[in-house]
Parts: sequence; C-alpha cells; structure tokens
Amino acid sequence: MPKSTKIDKTIKKAIALALAARENAKSFRSKVGIAFEMYDGRLIPGFNIETYGHKGNHAEEVGLIIAMSEGYSGTDFRRMIEVYQDAGHEDIEVFPACPLDCWGRLLEFTHPYLEIVVADIHGNIHYSTMLKEMVSGIKPPAQVYPSNKIRLAKPKSNITPKLPLNKRLKPMYDSDLEFRQYCDEVLKVKH
Ligand SMILES: [Zn+2]
Repeated sequence: MPKSTKIDKTIKKAIALALAARENAKSFRSKVGIAFEMYDGRLIPGFNIETYGHKGNHAEEVGLIIAMSEGYSGTDFRRMIEVYQDAGHEDIEVFPACPLDCWGRLLEFTHPYLEIVVADIHGNIHYSTMLKEMVSGIKPPAQVYPSNKIRLAKPKSNITPKLPLNKRLKPMYDSDLEFRQYCDEVLKVKH
C-alpha cells in the first residue's frame, strides 16, 4: 500500500473520531470535537463542555487531559484534528482553534511541530498547518506562553514523553535550536 494512502486512512479515522467526540459535547451553544493522533498510532478524543456558571472546557483541553492521564506528553503528540460548529446557525464553519488560550495550552503540553488539521462537520479538510505557524504571527512583545526560559525556571513534574523522539521530528530537532533545548532540557525526551 502506498504511504500516502495509509496516512489518508489514519486522518479519516481521526476525523471520524473527532466527529463522534463532538456528539459528546455538553453544550448549549458550540459543539467542538477533536482527536489527537499520537506517535504510537493511538487516537484520543476530546469534546467541549459548556457550563451555566463557571468556565467551561474546550475540546482541546479535555483531549489533553485524557492524553495526559495515559502518560502522553510533549513530543508524543503527532497531530490534532479539530471539528467545530456553532449551534447558532447551519452554515459550515471552520474554526482556526482558539487563539492564546488553546494555542498556549497546546504549546505548553505538546510542541511547536504538532500538525493541526481543521475539518468541517461533513469531514472535509479545510486546512492543515503546524502549531508553530499559528503562534508565530503574534507581534512582540506579546507572545504565546511559555518560553523555554519560563519552563526552565519553573520545571514541571511528569512531563517526560513516554515515547522516544519520533524520527519525523529529527530534522526539526537538528535545525531548530529552541526545539532542541525544549526536547533535551525541558522534556528530557529519549532519543
Ligand atoms: Zn479551544
């Protein structure tokens, strides 16, 4: 089987999981479903939760918590598929994931080379990009947290990935100094 067909099949499965996860949304407004694909092939769903009183939870956050509860961290994440539709109208909507909050959350607990694939409720892919691209348009002095400096000053427990650094990330590890420092000094990922 050609490699691209195999990848397409995985993305299709991930989109189906994100759509199914979206049906679990506890919401009165927007329904969001995501699926994380891990570098060992595992797919992990996430859905959003809206509340009447306190803050809700975004699908990205819920998916991250499920993934973390299984020991995944940092460079274990390969891609995130996201499907969004507001309850307010029928038109197809394509949501670029949530600026600052979720981008920051993803950057903090995954890595800049996480692939982000955005699809609509019919399963059609509208674009795919890397987290690094999404967070790079912000003009200094504003930035999406956290920097390596903050991570090194405030080290966190239990963030070492459970998988060794995947070979797909090796070219970025070799060429991106900041990513290399994140892998070696913050995540302490095996490779
Ligand atoms: Zn979000």
